Amino acid sequence: AKAQGGGRCAFFDVELRERVQRHMVLEQDLHHSVEQDQLWVAYQPIFDLRTERTVAVEGLLRWRHPLHGTVSPGEFIPLAEESDLINSIGAHMLRTATRQLAAARQRHRLDLRLNANLSPRQLEDPGLRTIVQQALAEAGLPAHALCLEVTESAIMRDPSAATPVLHSLRELGVSLAIDDFGTGHSSLAQLRRLPFDSLKIDRSFVTDLADSDGLDVLVTSIIAMAHALGLTVVAEGVETAHQLDLLRDLGSDHAQGYYLGKPTPLEELLPAHTSR
Ligand code: C2E
Ligand code: CA
Ligand code: CA
Ligand code: CA
Repeated sequence: AKAQGGGRCAFFDVELRERVQRHMVLEQDLHHSVEQDQLWVAYQPIFDLRTERTVAVEGLLRWRHPLHGTVSPGEFIPLAEESDLINSIGAHMLRTATRQLAAARQRHRLDLRLNANLSPRQLEDPGLRTIVQQALAEAGLPAHALCLEVTESAIMRDPSAATPVLHSLRELGVSLAIDDFGTGHSSLAQLRRLPFDSLKIDRSFVTDLADSDGLDVLVTSIIAMAHALGLTVVAEGVETAHQLDLLRDLGSDHAQGYYLGKPTPLEELLPAHTSR
């Protein structure tokens, strides 16, 4: 038993060391990811439950690492956040996605909107408004075709600092979505003062919807509150037809999730979209 215990300890030690090393290597390599053209944007459809059409796509960053293969944003965005790289990566992401979407809208004659994520650090960058404005102008994408997503928890870190930033972005004509709603402890009073256009219900609520007692009541009240505030509701993480039916019945306006389409390169998404 003693030897086994020692073995387990050594095992965890190795695992921990490997994790720390990977962390360090990735953080180093992230510095060159933009100039070496290793970042690309996957797009996931957002579906209108009433018209049953794709109305928008959410751009989700991917990193093609020369040694580690595809690294998920769940792993590298926090590294970018820690190291200040998030502002240059975020600006690159906005330029790339607005350009790709503007081209696709022209080529396919589509009124497809783009959703893009902003990190907490980007919200604190005084140059953000100019970055957004320039990305739109250079891409030739109309401002109303862009929706910027900010997580509820990012806003709640410092609501009084975030509020004027959100207002100044909205003055550009873009719309704003509050992301991962339900995980960030915002109050109704705060929400009412913030200039959001839509609210994305966090995936955790959708995942448990069918088998958790009372969750439908909670989701119903989130939707009612959002609608009372004039917000469009997007349900995230829809993986089954059953979840989609439930959410439609509960009054969600839009839905997004693997059941409706996984994040893919834009060209792969569009032929399916246009033939619908
Ligand atoms: P998010 O903004 O909440 O994006 C949704 C995430 O849920 C995506 O993960 C998406 O692939 C995943 N997802 C969508 N539908 C389903 C589903 O039906 N089931 C499950 N299990 N997952 C689903 P992804 O692409 O790995 O991104 C993770 C997070 O990384 C994003 O969460 C977002 O917070 C962040 N992120 C991605 N791209 C960017 C970016 O360009 N900038 C910033 N700041 N953050 C980004
Ligand atoms: Ca998002
Ligand atoms: Ca989300
Ligand atoms: Ca999330």
